[in-house]
Amino acid sequence: MENILLLVHTEADGSLAKSALESLQTAQTLAAALGTAGFSVGIVGETFQAAANQIASCGAVKFLGVEGVDFAQSRYASDAAAVEAICKIAQATLVIAPATSRWNRVLAGVAQRLNGRVETHVTGLSGENGVVSVSRWYYRQRMEAVLQRTQRPWFLLVDPGSQPAWQGEAGTASVEAVAVSLPESSKRTTVTGVRAPSADAQTIRPDADLLFVTGAGWTKKQADGQTHVPEAEKLIYNFLKLTRASLGSSKSLVDLGGEGQAVISFLTHLNQIGQTGSTPRHPKGLSTCCHGEEPHAVGWRFIKERRAISLDANCGWARGKADVLYVADAFAVMAKVNELVAAK
Ligand SMILES: Cc1cc2nc3c(=O)[nH]c(=O)nc-3n(C[C@H](O)[C@H](O)[C@H](O)COP(=O)(O)OP(=O)(O)OC[C@H]3O[C@@H](n4cnc5c(N)ncnc54)[C@H](O)[C@@H]3O)c2cc1C
Repeated sequence: MENILLLVHTEADGSLAKSALESLQTAQTLAAALGTAGFSVGIVGETFQAAANQIASCGAVKFLGVEGVDFAQSRYASDAAAVEAICKIAQATLVIAPATSRWNRVLAGVAQRLNGRVETHVTGLSGENGVVSVSRWYYRQRMEAVLQRTQRPWFLLVDPGSQPAWQGEAGTASVEAVAVSLPESSKRTTVTGVRAPSADAQTIRPDADLLFVTGAGWTKKQADGQTHVPEAEKLIYNFLKLTRASLGSSKSLVDLGGEGQAVISFLTHLNQIGQTGSTPRHPKGLSTCCHGEEPHAVGWRFIKERRAISLDANCGWARGKADVLYVADAFAVMAKVNELVAAK
């Protein structure tokens, strides 16, 4: 019989992030499918009570927690010690955790310590006929594999956005505190601060409902024979500000910067979607001034509803890659869209 452990860490305010709730839903569903005696929850953070209360009604048989100032920050040595202690007490055979940067950094090492195995980028879990199967994609999301292993403990890092988030009532949970004593040597790394772009400059928003993609067309000569990059920049910026959509781009557009051409100033290679870019998971996507070539469109694999605005009625989007293609001038369409959204 499997012992399922959901492993989460708290955010700076002591709460659990959406990715943690997605892993919780996954653990709960798997426990039901396998018919195990429920699942345990392990929490690591500066304090664990608020996080445990947030999911008090999830039906976990046990809450285990490691807390203290040493566990507030993401640090390999202290996180690994905390996770190892929780896994041992829970006698976990399956450890389900959100693939956050904090857990991605540490769980492979803990799997090694416990003579277990780890799977990253898990996008699905099933427990048919008592057998645990894990899905993940390979080769830039082109092939999906279903894996099974006999080695335990098995650590499963679940890709954020790939599962529905658990929803339920908060309450009061009783948490068993797990003591972890850290040697001085494990405290050598200290996080002295975080440098991050301001909220407005941060255009990649994985939790946004909409992915807004810009293509090289925004920088091309338009009907009047001129380029209109400053105008394009303003339209895109205003749309993002009004809708809080996440900003994606084609490779051609982000590459232009390297060639010294006039570009959209807040775009970087991190915004690139596609074969050599990212494969985000937003419910909806709107592509603008982009041709929809295969190396780009492959990054849209997990976008559920796809729309595109292109002047070219024969572009890649028209060939089955988009649900709706507007053959129109994106400058005109987005100006009107911004006007309507602002009026709302
Ligand atoms: C190995 C390899 C890997 C690659 N990986 C990626 C990747 O990860 N991501 C990626 O994006 N690409 C990738 N590419 C490049 C890809 O093949 C395309 O070259 C690129 O996506 C084209 O970008 P684009 O559609 O923005 O530009 P273009 O092909 O220049 O298309 C611009 C489009 O804008 C339209 N347009 C112009 N003005 C307007 C207007 N006013 N209104 C509406 N539409 C307008 C035009 O009609 C045109 O369709 C890769 C290529 C290779 C060979």
